Amino acid sequence: MENNTIVNNSDMNEAHRSHIVKLIHQKGVCSRAELAKATGLTQASITKITASLIDSGVLSESGIIKGNGNRRAIGLKLNTKNNLVIAVKFSRYVYTAAVFDISGKLYKQREKEFDMNDDPREVLTDMKKDIHELLDEYENVLAIGMAVPGPYLRHRGRIAIISRLSSAWHDISFVDEFENEFNKPVFIEQDANAGAMAEWWFGNHDKPINSLAYMLVGEGVGSGIVVEDSLLLGKQGAASEIGHISLDINGPRCECGNYGCLELFASTPVLLQRAKQELPQLFKKSRHKRSEEYELIFSAAREGDHDALKLLKQVGKYIAYGCVSLINSYNPDIIVIGDVMSKAGDILLPVITETVRERAIPELFEEVTIKMSELKIDPTLYGAAAIATDKVLSRPSEFLTVRVQ
Ligand SMILES: [Zn+2]
Repeated sequence: MENNTIVNNSDMNEAHRSHIVKLIHQKGVCSRAELAKATGLTQASITKITASLIDSGVLSESGIIKGNGNRRAIGLKLNTKNNLVIAVKFSRYVYTAAVFDISGKLYKQREKEFDMNDDPREVLTDMKKDIHELLDEYENVLAIGMAVPGPYLRHRGRIAIISRLSSAWHDISFVDEFENEFNKPVFIEQDANAGAMAEWWFGNHDKPINSLAYMLVGEGVGSGIVVEDSLLLGKQGAASEIGHISLDINGPRCECGNYGCLELFASTPVLLQRAKQELPQLFKKSRHKRSEEYELIFSAAREGDHDALKLLKQVGKYIAYGCVSLINSYNPDIIVIGDVMSKAGDILLPVITETVRERAIPELFEEVTIKMSELKIDPTLYGAAAIATDKVLSRPSEFLTVRVQ
């Protein structure tokens, strides 16, 4: 009984520390009075907890700021510089590894393209080597976050289906491969969930939000839902697989087993395939990189190419059907659309908004904001950093310092 009480107290203290550290992370600088108001803790408790966090180097004072009621107060900020995370994005033909600090500042990024039919063992060996090199270069890495394509089965550590990737990848357990490879904890999450966390942690939204849906529309289509700081995971970690809802029950068979899935109408490979058939003149010149091929379609539409515009608008409608399902299923404050398609937001967003207005439950549509991701860094990569940062800030005494009591 007594032991339980001690554990509970210690958990409670850690929860308070985490709450405070996360609030300061969110706002940049906070006064003690603001922290007391936001957490509901007494001023005396806040003074005690922040003193121990300052003492252990997690926080520092940042000079005088305007506090509640314009009163002058001492600001508190997070010491970010010495607290780093490594983010890894694994996608179908490229992986990226990068170093961030816990405020989301990017220090270094490297990426490598591979062939979808390459031996997975060789690709994994290269990834590990790159991460080891970053760990050698940066001493203060606390944790590693990794984003992989969904549906990712977290209890098995592997990806359920990876469309268009060699079947040899189906047997790879990312957890087995990476869990004990480095002397740092590794947290693995599916790409759309990572993107949702990036928008939650680092997105700049106009209003306070409690729930966020992130829709990834790129090589695949997926979504991640965050409600009050937490990802909606489901039993196996694969909740909200919006890419595999059936839009046409008699449509083509999808690799997931369903028919006419959203991913078969709105992902970038489908856009590219149709563009190559319907707009062959765009691709006549020398070989382009994949990312440049999308840009060719987007630019043609912007320059008034009727067929390119029509094609993109059709894709926009399918993205909208996905948004309608997200709104009707989760009733989020905001839907953020990210990955490749967000680069054509100027063309797509008006179509998406109009189509959603026509189809979603009107009262729900009135309250939801739909926007394109405005993050300057790839949301999936940034999300891998956000996943690691979230873990670090949730357990400050474990990760940020050894001296917090
Ligand atoms: Zn499917």
